[in-house]
Amino acid sequence: MARPIRATISAPALRHNYAQAKAAAPRSRVLAVVKANGYGHGLDRVARSLGPVVDGFGTLEIEGAVRLRESGFAGEIVLLEGFFEASELAVIAGARLATSVHSEEQLRMLHASPPPTPIDIYLKINTGMNRLGIAPRAAKGALDRIRESGAAKSITLMTHFANADGPAGVAEAMRRFEEATQGLALPRSLANSAAIFAHPETHADTVREGVALYGATPFADRSAEQLGLKPVMTLTSQVIAVQELEPGDTVGYGSTFRCDRAMRIGVVACGYADGYPRHAPSGTPVVVGGVRTKTVGRVSMDMITVDLKPVSHARVGTPVTLWGEGLPIDEVAVASGTVGYELMCAVMPRVPIIEV
Ligand code: PLP
Repeated sequence: MARPIRATISAPALRHNYAQAKAAAPRSRVLAVVKANGYGHGLDRVARSLGPVVDGFGTLEIEGAVRLRESGFAGEIVLLEGFFEASELAVIAGARLATSVHSEEQLRMLHASPPPTPIDIYLKINTGMNRLGIAPRAAKGALDRIRESGAAKSITLMTHFANADGPAGVAEAMRRFEEATQGLALPRSLANSAAIFAHPETHADTVREGVALYGATPFADRSAEQLGLKPVMTLTSQVIAVQELEPGDTVGYGSTFRCDRAMRIGVVACGYADGYPRHAPSGTPVVVGGVRTKTVGRVSMDMITVDLKPVSHARVGTPVTLWGEGLPIDEVAVASGTVGYELMCAVMPRVPIIEV
């Protein structure tokens, strides 16, 4: 029998979450962000499910973007991090990709080796993230240089928020963006998932839905369910062994968990080599046989161990949900000191995928 771990990916849930963003930003085009292999859900799979309904895709890896185009998707495909070498400009033009332009180096490349035919450009302005982007005071100059290069078929003004999900909010970033782009009659794209749901004033022409598309929340204080999202990935496995332990017995590497009573411990076929976070502490939620319980001891490469006390019917073969339907990925993320984004991106290729 095959090892019982599986990731089930729900196409209806993906389409539902896309529709939630459309409903939240009804006057905007919604790009589905599919970088990092569709946030771990499989680029081709996500593109197949969403291709017929989306306004466009946003991604990062140029190979994936070209593959999306070759798969027959005719809508907009935006490279959110742009290009790294001048030679990529011909690929971008050939596949009719849009690309962000966020740096002096890229502006120079556009002049020195323009694409063979004009391309759609998203001019990225740095409004406080301080990673990528043209300084607000240099935005109009950058726009002039793009226009002079003759490389642009269209230009969209863009920024990416540092704090749309938190208390600092978007007001200061919006002020900088408005100042930098005042008087420019060009389309705009600002919002990520958090801004789609929390900051309607940012919606503008095009929003970019990433993590919410996959049914996780970008917020610390609003759950995916509260946002009307459905989990897309459900990671399941089974109990593969049961240990009856005495008070004082310990569990797993380093003996970090010690039983304070007689305990039944379930061993579950899922470890960090499947993508389960190794730093998940004892007490991380897990659902066994439909009943919520907790992990005990260290996560190892291929197994975790769980307390079977609340689930007396558990035995070898009992189904286990690590996250997804019945256990929000965000709860596992919080317990593990990370975010849903990281967990979904980390699921390993050895985990078989079931599409529903
Ligand atoms: N837009 C840009 C430029 C991004 O880099 C990302 C992801 O990091 C997104 C949109 C989507 O963000 P989120 O997953 O928070 O919706």
